[in-house]
Amino acid sequence: MTDLNSNAHLGLAMPVETKTLLFQVALDQSYNSVVITDANTKGDGPRIIYANPSFEKMTGYTLCELIGKSPKILQGPLTDQRVIEEMRLCIQSGTFFEGSAINYNKNGAPYNVEWSISPIKDQSGVIQNFISVQRNVTTLIAVQQKRSLLAKALNDTPDCVMITDIQNRIIFVNIGFEQLTGYKQDEVLGKEPSFLWGSKPETAPDNIESRLSNLHFQSHAPNLRKDGSKFHVDQSMANIQDDAGKVTHYVSFSKDSTDRLKQELELKDMASTDALTGLLNRRAGEQLLKQYDDMTQPANNMLCLIMLDIDNFKKINDTFGHVIGDQALKSCSQLLKSEARATDSVIRWGGEEFLIVVSNSTLKATLNFAERIRKSFELNNESTVGFVTASFGVAQMLTGESTASLLNRADKALYKAKLEGRNCVKCAKQPILF
Ligand code: GH3
Ligand code: MG
Ligand code: MG
Repeated sequence: MTDLNSNAHLGLAMPVETKTLLFQVALDQSYNSVVITDANTKGDGPRIIYANPSFEKMTGYTLCELIGKSPKILQGPLTDQRVIEEMRLCIQSGTFFEGSAINYNKNGAPYNVEWSISPIKDQSGVIQNFISVQRNVTTLIAVQQKRSLLAKALNDTPDCVMITDIQNRIIFVNIGFEQLTGYKQDEVLGKEPSFLWGSKPETAPDNIESRLSNLHFQSHAPNLRKDGSKFHVDQSMANIQDDAGKVTHYVSFSKDSTDRLKQELELKDMASTDALTGLLNRRAGEQLLKQYDDMTQPANNMLCLIMLDIDNFKKINDTFGHVIGDQALKSCSQLLKSEARATDSVIRWGGEEFLIVVSNSTLKATLNFAERIRKSFELNNESTVGFVTASFGVAQMLTGESTASLLNRADKALYKAKLEGRNCVKCAKQPILF
């Protein structure tokens, strides 16, 4: 036990009176609130024998009002009785206590207090007093509560939240992120968000600079979940700046847009697909041709068109009925699809009329291609309707020509093929330019 009457612990000699005065002044001027009680065990227990000005200020009671009272006058309905009980047991056993609870000031206003109690023993080891050092932590707790509320809100929002440092390394992800990606926070801390884009750089969305210049964007390139499955997100990002305005972190909020994107693609697909044959519809074909009109020459002068029309199709309908006619149209479409290259576009232009947009091809190669299709038709023995033939008109785009003119020439060539007995390929004439 420290002997208060000894100067040994101070390491210097100091007269007792000077020391007592120093302690008195120190307690009176202490920033922390200090209250000293006796060690009374009867009735309400220890009673206040000293309280410093800071304690008076914190509680609103004057020293006169406090002297002789039990510190229990500070307790109220929100005071945690478990803490008080713990404190009582410590006091009883003469040990040090540290805790926090809600107390009430003289006006009945609650405040959060953090305090420690030490027993003061005499030379024979008997507890004579208790000294309690207290601190009003209401503001601190309010700040902590606000912070933990914000952290909880970030964590619990169903959207994905990710915070990265200035080096773009992940320092926080929320539960929404874990659920969407299948990665736990521990597995991603310290990584760059780009790890979600997979190993191929071409799947990576825009880089961070462009992301930040465009704080809301939709990533069309897929991200990869831990299990390798793909997902898309709508993402917004913000800089987090310090008080001096320097960027210290980035925060991103992402919403899973996979289903929506899929629906959009399906709708787009539906809008451009012919329901019966699954080929591109006329609207999609017209849009495609328009793109060639918008291109600068000579990028489009390797463009050829094949316009084809099934011969005597009306007879098929008349003989076998519309349903079988539909099936024949479907199977003709399959044949066209299988003959075309991946770079060619096969369009159902009208009832039993089709257009093939052949890019990067010479007129000669396209005529050969049309002839190959014609032969395939000729050899294709349809189970119900038998052999079906088609007539073909082929045209190559000339420098400065519009797709409307090109289409018209291909159509005229097709008309010629019909006139010359059907089941043949005809090449379009050069246009008369004046
Ligand atoms: P041509 O050799 O001169 O082209 O003779 P064609 O009989 O093929 O030509 P025409 O224009 O007289 O008749 C085309 C027929 O194609 C008429 C139409 O009912 C039929 N047709 C158009 N669209 C469809 C379709 O979606 N399903 C079915 N089953 N028939 C269709
Ligand atoms: Mg026809
Ligand atoms: Mg026709």
